Amino acid sequence: MSPSGYDNDELIFLEEDESQTEHTAKLGYWNVLVVDDDEEIHSVTRLALSDLVVNEKKLQFHHAYSGPEALEKIKEMGSSIAIILLDVVMETDDSGLRVAKIMREEYGLLEPRIILRTGQPGYAPEESVIKEYDINDYKTKTELTRSKLVTTIISSLRSYQQILTINQSRLGLEKIITSAANLLEEHSIKGFCEGVVTQISSLIGLDAGGVVCARAGSVLDKENDDGVYILGAAGEFAQYINETIESIHDSKIVSYVNKCLKDKKHLFVDKISVLYMNSSGYEAAVYLEISDEISQVHKQLLEVFLSSISVGYENVNLFHQLRNAAFRDWLTKLPNRNEFINMLDDEKCTQDAGHGSVVALIDINHFSDVNDGLGQDAGNNLLMAVAQKLQEEIGSTVRLGRIGADIFGLIGPEAQVNPGKIGELFITPFRAGDHTLPVNISIGLCRIGPDSCSGITILKQTNIALNRAKKDLNTNFGYYEPEMEEKTTWRLGMIRQLREDFAARKLQVWYQPQVDLVSEKIIGMEALLRWPSKDGGYISPAVFVPLAEYSGLIIEIGAWVLNESCRQVKELNEQGHSNLRVAVNISMPQFRDPEFVDSIKTAVVENGISPEFLELEITESVVMDEPQIVVDALKELKRFGVTIAIDDFGTGFSSMSYLQQLPLDRLKVDRSFVNEVMPGKTAFIAETIVTLGNKLGLQTIAEGVEKREQASYMLKLGCDEAQGYLYAKPMPFDDLLVFLEKHHQ
Ligand code: C2E
Ligand code: MG
Ligand code: MG
Repeated sequence: MSPSGYDNDELIFLEEDESQTEHTAKLGYWNVLVVDDDEEIHSVTRLALSDLVVNEKKLQFHHAYSGPEALEKIKEMGSSIAIILLDVVMETDDSGLRVAKIMREEYGLLEPRIILRTGQPGYAPEESVIKEYDINDYKTKTELTRSKLVTTIISSLRSYQQILTINQSRLGLEKIITSAANLLEEHSIKGFCEGVVTQISSLIGLDAGGVVCARAGSVLDKENDDGVYILGAAGEFAQYINETIESIHDSKIVSYVNKCLKDKKHLFVDKISVLYMNSSGYEAAVYLEISDEISQVHKQLLEVFLSSISVGYENVNLFHQLRNAAFRDWLTKLPNRNEFINMLDDEKCTQDAGHGSVVALIDINHFSDVNDGLGQDAGNNLLMAVAQKLQEEIGSTVRLGRIGADIFGLIGPEAQVNPGKIGELFITPFRAGDHTLPVNISIGLCRIGPDSCSGITILKQTNIALNRAKKDLNTNFGYYEPEMEEKTTWRLGMIRQLREDFAARKLQVWYQPQVDLVSEKIIGMEALLRWPSKDGGYISPAVFVPLAEYSGLIIEIGAWVLNESCRQVKELNEQGHSNLRVAVNISMPQFRDPEFVDSIKTAVVENGISPEFLELEITESVVMDEPQIVVDALKELKRFGVTIAIDDFGTGFSSMSYLQQLPLDRLKVDRSFVNEVMPGKTAFIAETIVTLGNKLGLQTIAEGVEKREQASYMLKLGCDEAQGYLYAKPMPFDDLLVFLEKHHQ
């Protein structure tokens, strides 16, 4: 025992006390309740313990002079009382024990430590009572010297502190279990991370502001970017979700979070804690700022919490990746068609609140040429370049998606999403790998209004507008209008019917004779399709051929027309009408069919006709659409021996350079120019075409000759042949036989 009456341990406390008086006040006190009916005991106790400092805290005394008064105080202060110095005998022999019993059993207060004191040794309680009421110490007042009191107080304070810690941890662990369970149900990264911050606040019982951050690439769909992004936040930081951490403009946060992610461990500095979370490589840093320095217990709790939720963090990341696979385009990382439909559904809901926005589908024309000609990589690069430009320049109010191979979707206010604004982005060529490629687009647009249907329907409608735009020769865009849909429904019905009727062999080939203008002898005929309608009439090929082209049905129908024409030329031969040529109209989709050239050769060979009796009629627009395919096919067919005519000449946009490459035999002067032929007037275009034909060494044939003066005018111009109502209308094969018989005689 040292001279002062304290042992060494306690001396240290005292020394610290003197140097740290300032500091202790900040950290608070140990509450000590003195319960005794003897006033002197109160003052002696105070005096004896007034200088004592334990764990940097001084004692603060509270006083009660009877059992009921003590209970009053205990009720009021609860577990903030660290120690009760309790007199056993007060108004009754056992009033102190009663206080202990009520406090433990009725109030359920387990933390405060009890030191029983009694004046008379004979009043010592049973051992069972000491255990039952969790009494730390029992001393007679005479036994309690100052030094003994100090020792008892110190050891009781330690056990009080331990009990508090255990209880806190227990509560904390309970919370960890419930909050971790809650978090495990969270499927979105944002929701999970917000949850982490709020759960931590509640775990440590403080109002914590904080953010959860991660490096891009792992969970954020940003490639080539190693910035740190905010995944979730609570409190003042909530507005920064999905932004980079720099956007908070707090260099302290930036440097702590970066350090934590770099060192891969927790960081505790003053009131700031940065916790490191990692499960199977999914890393995140949780930055917390709380109003007080974090306690050791809380640190441990947080570590337990983090390790129990890091699996959850891994799960939301995996879930996110699965979602991405279903809702993101793998190439551009933009929302895919499914997600775009969801976005349209959302947009439609906000539309109900009143502001109008527009959906646009942008289709890259002839994208397949890039893929076929320059390779898939070039195609992918081009798509990435387009996606990037759209993302960078279309404005933040516009949302983007990739809907199909070469189709991008936009949703946004009309000021941004309109043909002018979109068109501007495609004026300059795009860099795709080693290539710089000009990009032509078609745009379908649809205004979303309060009456709009579901996302999927809006997309369908926009697609209708896009298909329209693609077909329009004058503009490259179109807005959806309800009539379009009626028309589409009608078209689909027609196509279905056409397919059925073709399969049922209801289609017919009619023939319109062609004559030599000089001799007026019949030199051949044009094969023209006829589709009988239910009312006994015929649906015009001008109506159904475009539908057959649109649906691809023209490939089969066209092959049939060719075969039928060859077969019937052969039959005419057999009936004595030799040297008659049949002209068959060919559409663009037929040229795209790889079997096309062979199928013509087969039709000619198998029907046993001479190839020069078959003529193919193609329009200028076919040539212009995909010149190379057409030129190649026609050259081969020409070598085979069939002849080639340009139909409706003068109505398209043929460039002379293409015309000169084509192996042509004949120009067909379009009906509209022949129609201009009137008595006493010059038909300039007809004249120019005939002159041009002569210069190029081609035969010319006038279409739609209805009047005698038209025939003689064309003859005078130097036109070689004619076809028109003046001579004969298109007719079925049997009628043609009769017609030829008559003409023969
Ligand atoms: P086209 O090749 O220019 O055929 C000439 C059209 O002019 C025919 O119309 C014919 O009936 C009409 N026509 C002939 N002479 C006169 C006349 O003196 N006055 C008037 N007003 N019209 C005359 P049709 O048969 O209705 O065919 C329309 C178009 O449908 C054809 O124009 C052709 O482009 C297309 N077509 C017809 N059959 C086929 C086919 O088998 N395959 C393909 N791809 N297209 C076809
Ligand atoms: Mg024709
Ligand atoms: Mg024509």
